[in-house]
Amino acid sequence: MTAITDLSSADLADRLARARDAHGGFKARGLKLDMTRGKPAPEQLDLASGLLTLPGNGDHTTATGEDARNYGGLQGLPEVRALFARPLLGAPPEQIAVAENSSLALMHDCIVWALLKGVPGSQRPWSREEAVAFLCPVPGYDRHFALCEEFGIRMLPVPMTPDGPDMDAVEALAADPSVKGMWCVPKYSNPSGEIYSEATVRRLSAMRTGAPDFRLFWDNAYAVHHLTPARHAIPDVLEACAAAGHPDRAFVFASTSKITLAGAGLAFFGGSPANLAWYLARAGKRTIGPDKLNQLRHLRFLRDGEGLTTHMDRQRALLAPKFSAVTEALDRHLAGTGAAAWSRPEGGYFIGVAARAGTAARIVRLAGEAGIGLTPAGATFPHGRDPDDSSLRLAPSYPSLPEVALAAEGIALSILLAALEAEQA
Ligand code: PLP
Repeated sequence: MTAITDLSSADLADRLARARDAHGGFKARGLKLDMTRGKPAPEQLDLASGLLTLPGNGDHTTATGEDARNYGGLQGLPEVRALFARPLLGAPPEQIAVAENSSLALMHDCIVWALLKGVPGSQRPWSREEAVAFLCPVPGYDRHFALCEEFGIRMLPVPMTPDGPDMDAVEALAADPSVKGMWCVPKYSNPSGEIYSEATVRRLSAMRTGAPDFRLFWDNAYAVHHLTPARHAIPDVLEACAAAGHPDRAFVFASTSKITLAGAGLAFFGGSPANLAWYLARAGKRTIGPDKLNQLRHLRFLRDGEGLTTHMDRQRALLAPKFSAVTEALDRHLAGTGAAAWSRPEGGYFIGVAARAGTAARIVRLAGEAGIGLTPAGATFPHGRDPDDSSLRLAPSYPSLPEVALAAEGIALSILLAALEAEQA
């Protein structure tokens, strides 16, 4: 297709009229499609419906003979840690803890505890520092940024590259002692699906930081969430940090929210022995112990690493066609137009779109008029402000495949229309 910027004014007017017509046709259909959030679809949750009858009446004894119904077991059952530690956190089982259902809640707690008490290596609680800042690869996960906003942590955006965050920028900014942390979604990053390269992981582990108590908030939310048979691997960050002489640098987070049940899974914290002891000391004030029946339920259901892999293959069979439907529609309508570029993620839950600068908010409005709910423009940037008004996040998991295919047509059309309007303006 001809690039929009190369169209003659007559061709531009013609394309614009046709795009407006097609968009009008969409509006008239009165659709109501939701592509806003990365929620598993009901069929994905159904894959884990076997959990609902487990561990079953009478099955409540752990591998070491404990009664899972009772208090205690703060770190989580060893047999459950053995199942999840390597694949989800890249850590040995003794270096992780099993919590309740939400890894976001763990990140929240770690930030609050760091602010109130400091972390291993801190000279004082973070809240007693003059300023606290986090490095924020952009586009990124809106709820990470919301946590920083909630607690008055300054956010320093860092551009993403296909290999992860721009490491020259990261190293330059991390030299400032007020920079205490960094958000990282190292595999199938939210929202553009980047996989951090080995070199990126090594540089993050080895870089000089101005703060002695700097922490990577390593959110491995999509560790086993592959969309292709490639099943990409990244280096284990705890090992990489230890090898680089910074054993306490990473807090690692993961959960089964997008493996089993998004609202009733298991969340995990991983860290060096010092970080784990720090975490358990805080967590032990907050609870007498986590829900070990849910831990047993997950163990009985998934059984072992092979069971986990098979289960994720079933998830992939449901999700991959939805992602293909979106990229296929974007390719068909937009390739060569210069209206946008889009990611082709090999895992995770989102497709990132970099639309023509200055059009993202307009695209969200146009899609809304066509009955398609999109994540607000700017949501993937600190404070919801994308300086280029370009970034969009598409979340194809929740609607049915025919709905996703239809929504993708409307989205592609909205992107094209916004770019044509901008060119004519
Ligand atoms: N981290 C990332 C990068 C996510 O995309 C999400 C959900 O979309 C979460 C964390 C939420 O995790 P949890 O359900 O374990 O709280």
